[in-house]
Amino acid sequence: MTQIAFIGLGNMGAPMAANLLKAGHQLAVFDLASEAVAKLAQAGARAASSAAEAAAGAEVVITMLPAGPHVKGVYLGAGRVLTAVASGTLLIDCSTIDAETARALHAAAAERGLDMLDAPVSGGVAGAEAATLTFIVGGEAAALERARPILEAMGKKIFHAGAAGAGQVAKMCNNMLLGILMTGTAEALNLGVANGLDPKVLSEIMKASSGNNWALQVYNPYPGVMEGTPASRGYQGGFGVDLLVKDLELALKAGLATRTSLPLGSLVRQLYVAYSKQGAGRMDFSSIIKYLDPELEKK
Ligand code: NAD
Repeated sequence: MTQIAFIGLGNMGAPMAANLLKAGHQLAVFDLASEAVAKLAQAGARAASSAAEAAAGAEVVITMLPAGPHVKGVYLGAGRVLTAVASGTLLIDCSTIDAETARALHAAAAERGLDMLDAPVSGGVAGAEAATLTFIVGGEAAALERARPILEAMGKKIFHAGAAGAGQVAKMCNNMLLGILMTGTAEALNLGVANGLDPKVLSEIMKASSGNNWALQVYNPYPGVMEGTPASRGYQGGFGVDLLVKDLELALKAGLATRTSLPLGSLVRQLYVAYSKQGAGRMDFSSIIKYLDPELEKK
């Protein structure tokens, strides 16, 4: 049993924290949204009044926050977690943020003699709920070994991507591909339906053909094709459009910095930004299919 502070109890953080409780760990939790804290408190966690208060006395701190500025604010800002924690505390940031911020946090932690890992995840809300996430880790191998039993309570696969920030680089590449493949899958499904096909039948055919991909397997964007997906509950919950825009922009910035050609990443970012500006920022990212065909829900 480990004393864990869990900060950020949104779509991903809440089920991840719940799995740590189920595995018998003691949790102190904090989120700016008090309802999110209250829910975890009902499940047996201690409700903390701030991130620093949650972190004081913890052996491990886990953060699952939207973007780099939030993570920086929690570790280095007012009421800094970095100064609140006892020496020897292991810090694990599971948010998807830019590698530069991740490296700066590793350096600040190292100055205090603390182990830190960037450990962004893949697998979505369903993976967070089922404790089947993939962790993509950057940092020292010894720190990863300390973290392994904790990560195993929330996920199935753990990859050591490399040194500080490497987890974020790998995650950024994956999510750029995710945006591209979701948009391409949506485009193909709309084309089939517009030409008389049943989206369920077309999905089965493509799943068994060379177009097979993760969206077709577990996250079909077409409403009514697959139970339990955001598409089958009005695109609520899941992975927000604005979070994907953030990830695509991380990829484009990294592409600019290294003069890497990213034509599809750039195009997909433009589609998602235009869609977000229509008020879709908090909708699940698979709803890009509605942006491609605004009449979809009338069908
Ligand atoms: P979310 O917006 O649902 O949750 C973020 C939570 O952080 C919110 O509850 C918010 O109140 C809280 N928060 C923000 N600032 C805070 C602060 N200063 N102190 C305490 N709490 C604060 O986001 P999410 O979907 O849970 O995603 C979290 C991270 O995981 C993001 O970086 C995202 O890119 C990444 N991610 C998401 C998914 C997914 O499918 N949703 C999958 C993989 C990775």
